[in-house]
Amino acid sequence: MLVPGSGSGKDSGPMEVPCGPAYPRPAAPHPARRDPMPFDSLAAAESVARLAAQHAARVDQEAVFPRATLDAARDAGLLALTTSREHGGHGGSLRDAALVVERIARECGSSAMVLTMHYAANAVLEAHGAPALRQELGAGRHLGTLAFSEAGSRSQFWAPVSTARVEGDEVVLDAQKSWVTSANAATLYVWSSRPTAGDEASTLWLVPNRRPGLTLQGGYEGMGLRGNDSAPVTAKALRVPVANRLGADGAGFGVMMQDVLPTFCVLIAAGSIGLMETAVSRTAEHAGGKRYAHLPTSSALADLPTIRAYVARMRIDADAARTLWLDTIGALETGRADAMLRVLEVKVACAEAALRVVDSAMRVCGGLAYRKEVGVERAFRDARAAMVMAPTSDQLYDFIGKAVCGMPLF
Ligand SMILES: Cc1cc2nc3c(=O)[nH]c(=O)nc-3n(C[C@H](O)[C@H](O)[C@H](O)COP(=O)(O)OP(=O)(O)OC[C@H]3O[C@@H](n4cnc5c(N)ncnc54)[C@H](O)[C@@H]3O)c2cc1C
Repeated sequence: MLVPGSGSGKDSGPMEVPCGPAYPRPAAPHPARRDPMPFDSLAAAESVARLAAQHAARVDQEAVFPRATLDAARDAGLLALTTSREHGGHGGSLRDAALVVERIARECGSSAMVLTMHYAANAVLEAHGAPALRQELGAGRHLGTLAFSEAGSRSQFWAPVSTARVEGDEVVLDAQKSWVTSANAATLYVWSSRPTAGDEASTLWLVPNRRPGLTLQGGYEGMGLRGNDSAPVTAKALRVPVANRLGADGAGFGVMMQDVLPTFCVLIAAGSIGLMETAVSRTAEHAGGKRYAHLPTSSALADLPTIRAYVARMRIDADAARTLWLDTIGALETGRADAMLRVLEVKVACAEAALRVVDSAMRVCGGLAYRKEVGVERAFRDARAAMVMAPTSDQLYDFIGKAVCGMPLF
């Protein structure tokens, strides 16, 4: 479907709104939209999280996309949460999205990851998408994701090596994208490439899924977040209208830093916090419930001071991470001078805290932790991805160190 007026850039011509099957079928107007009351995203997240809890084990075991949870999220209005009211969405803030992702991550890390990438893509589309596209997003008809990482530049997503070449009113894209969450399920990708002209780092494009020239390389068989549907995606002479450009040619890096990074870092942190909450509560439950029958007193696991100290450290890590997370959101909302530093800090702090917490959960719950019924081994596996999702923890340490030492980041 071609719609007049790109949301940005000075090219004339229509921006193409993906016209394949909507995600995953045309959405009926959800009750919240007919309701004059403000949208209660927390209540919606609560009901979706309960459903996610029923499907999460199977999603993990079979490495399947959490379709039922995402359908429920769409029907509850959560895919349209961060689209402006003007375009039919709920006009939700980053704080709203963060609380939704945190709640769902407690039950299903994969669903939280899929929503994170959708909200990250939507941050770009809200800023640079054509009005008709945003209207579609406001109706909950699309699932978006980011196609940034490439086989060539790997985790250094800010430097794509893939190309874009203008031919008439179309751009021809060639790329080897190495990881795209929701690669199969998403209806649209926010896609990075080298600019069509000049020597800036990148340009962003709206690329509809299922297009000639686009190849998805299989499903995801990974260690954690096993339902996140990540796959390499290759573009060979893939054509989209020039008007699908998101921001000016060569402005991709700025859009990544301004529109994507705050959303992505805060929401990946939200996922880490949700996984920590699960690990802490399951561990406390296990420690309180498991007893040593041969001992006359002090017979529960939690009666051991060492065990209680581990649980205490887990709680402190989770609370400290949450405090920094909420402070980061507050800094962004009020435009505080240290907001960008907080954005860099929050992803690495929460990801690394989550690694400590899930590691302790495995230790405290002992041999039983290796079995699925205790409920910590999935959090242990799911929590590991945040560390290597770009910007990775080690890259963030470097950026923060440079910022603190007064050096340029790039
Ligand atoms: C589950 C999952 C889902 C993902 N979904 C998406 C998605 O939807 N879209 C997307 O675009 N990408 C996605 N990614 C990709 C991700 O963002 C990274 O690009 C990818 O994990 C990098 O892997 P690599 O082995 O190629 O990294 P490499 O670049 O080879 O990095 C290997 C190690 O080197 C370190 N390193 C690299 N550069 C530096 C540096 N400058 N300073 C210090 N250390 C450095 C890294 O920290 C890392 O530990 C996903 C990844 C995972 C695991």
